[in-house]
Amino acid sequence: MIVEVILDVPLERSFDYLCDDVVADDCGRCVRVPWGTGQKIGLIRAVKADSTHPQDRLKHVLEIWRHIPALTSSDWGLIEFASRYYHYPLGQTAMGILPPALRRIRGWSPRKTWQSSSMKNVAEPGLLQELNCAQAEILHNLRQSQGYTPHLLYGITGSGKTEIYLNWMDNLLEQGKQVLLLVPEINLTPQFEARLTRRWPTLFWVSLHSGISDTERAHRWLAAQRGEALLVLGTRLAVFTPMPNLGLIIVDEEHDSSFKQQEGLRYSARDLAIVRANRESIPILLGSATPSLESWLNARSGRYRLHRLTQRAVPLARLPAVYFTPVGQSLIWKEALQKTLMRGEQALVFINRRGYAPVLYCPACGWQAFCQRCSTRLVVHRQDQILRCHHCGIVKRLVRHCPECGSLHLETRGDGTQKVETHLKECFPEHRILRLDSDSLSRKGSWSVAYQQILDHEVDLLIGTQLVVKGHDFPDLSFVVVLNADQSLYSSDFRATERLLAQLIQVTGRAGRANLPGQVWIETDYPDHPVYQTLKNQEIEEYWEHELGVRQQTGWPPYSYLAILRAESCDRELLEGFMKQAGEQAHTLAMEGLMVYEPVPALLYRKAGQYRYQILVQADGRVALQEFLGCWRIALVRLKTGKRLRWVLEVDPIDC
Ligand code: ADP
Ligand code: ZN
Ligand code: ZN
Repeated sequence: MIVEVILDVPLERSFDYLCDDVVADDCGRCVRVPWGTGQKIGLIRAVKADSTHPQDRLKHVLEIWRHIPALTSSDWGLIEFASRYYHYPLGQTAMGILPPALRRIRGWSPRKTWQSSSMKNVAEPGLLQELNCAQAEILHNLRQSQGYTPHLLYGITGSGKTEIYLNWMDNLLEQGKQVLLLVPEINLTPQFEARLTRRWPTLFWVSLHSGISDTERAHRWLAAQRGEALLVLGTRLAVFTPMPNLGLIIVDEEHDSSFKQQEGLRYSARDLAIVRANRESIPILLGSATPSLESWLNARSGRYRLHRLTQRAVPLARLPAVYFTPVGQSLIWKEALQKTLMRGEQALVFINRRGYAPVLYCPACGWQAFCQRCSTRLVVHRQDQILRCHHCGIVKRLVRHCPECGSLHLETRGDGTQKVETHLKECFPEHRILRLDSDSLSRKGSWSVAYQQILDHEVDLLIGTQLVVKGHDFPDLSFVVVLNADQSLYSSDFRATERLLAQLIQVTGRAGRANLPGQVWIETDYPDHPVYQTLKNQEIEEYWEHELGVRQQTGWPPYSYLAILRAESCDRELLEGFMKQAGEQAHTLAMEGLMVYEPVPALLYRKAGQYRYQILVQADGRVALQEFLGCWRIALVRLKTGKRLRWVLEVDPIDC
């Protein structure tokens, strides 16, 4: 017999091998095959009698891994869709979604002792929360879902969305169905894990994210694939988890850009979750306090069913009062902060930049510290006495004198979390301050520790970036200040205000979640901007309608569909030549309803020594865009570029 195998190689084709003892059921299993002078792990795509290649030139399969379940046709369906839609080779797509431990040459040997014996496959309810009327009504409606039914749950922060998820999941778990719950950040999993354990103390469920060891990840994946783990809680990569009895998908914080994979197969887990629910004829629930405009438009046009929660769930919890102060005038909010801390409540200072300061410069001659490999400045990290590039990661010693003129008087400009931390420690020496950014939380498990510290009120004042504010529920937190909020208003990205508003609502939603009245301070020079006015009532509907109007007029998504060709090379001439040809190809291939923009340097023009260019394509419809991309891709592959230039097509990009 012949087996058709797909391999992790950047080619559009599969490879035929001979195999004597193969059966039709082996389709979807991992195989070890010879490849060149070495070996590779692949997946059996098909079993057939004949090959189009001469049989005497085919090699033999070395081993079929029968101790691992095969991918089913519905697993393949999603993989093939992703490969087609994102124009990424099938072999790389399929092998890329397997847990790394399952694609090692030396094979996979399961440990017997893995599953904790106290866990059962039944959902015995633990702690239950009685739903309020609004929640109960929504739950009732959700439960009516028959087959593929996409729902959007728009509920202000703290309105009890999660409680609805848990209740709906409860039903399905009881029926023995599996549930997939996707969250944007690995940081959000401990909080959910705690809530799930409280809810179903004996249920066997698994979480899947990049923060666990390869072996552990493979075990958990297999438990889901065998149908043993009824519930999978995971970040974007979990969207591909094989689950034979999948009955419901929930995507929490569906607007979050972390659902978008930014390298390799550049997929949106939120979008693939929708596709998966559709293919498997099951309901899906997207939840957010700030739905993406894409989902909002889908809800408004009736493609998704819209449910609203407009009140906070805890009876006495009120929305925080919002105050505005001019940028850089910190005296007023510091006074309010002081009072908050004196009352024994917790506070959060939000600033979306880590490090000490983003600029180091010499007032005497104008020199600035730039990264030699990127078109960007080096960030001062004073504690470590280094300068670091936040794009390529390069580290330099913090210089004491100007390399140009020798002046000993160097200055920093702008604030990062470390500078704010230093400053606030001087202002509030008697309070416990904790900085939360990717530098302070870089070690594994440090977020769980920090999270527990906050819950146990072992810290008073948090200083954090967006990394830590998403979706967290800190009952004692009553005060939030957002430093220098205006920055995103100057961005050229058409999504800038959507993002700013979503971010501010998420941040300010941290305040006053339990029984404490909260207050939020925003440093802005434009307090009358609609974004800030909308923030006051956390009610985005009106603003989203306005924003949709703008998008419709300007023709940006969700009223059009985008794709981007990104290319990079250390050879600028080669790159510019390639982009010119690629652009010409695109113009030739473009049909009506499709617009090809000129090649332009990327926002970060140079990164890690590579020059970067892009071409944006905008289409009226998805079908036309897909058809065009298929043709363009074939044409691009023919432009032989060699190893010194890399390019990628990205569909539905979120940064352009
Ligand atoms: P969201 O997911 O919308 O942010 P949660 O489901 O986390 O909201 O609920 C916010 C807070 O309100 C939590 O502390 C939760 O325990 C509480 N809560 C949720 N539903 C109710 C309810 N029906 N009655 C009382 N408290 C509730
Ligand atoms: Zn100088
Ligand atoms: Zn750099």
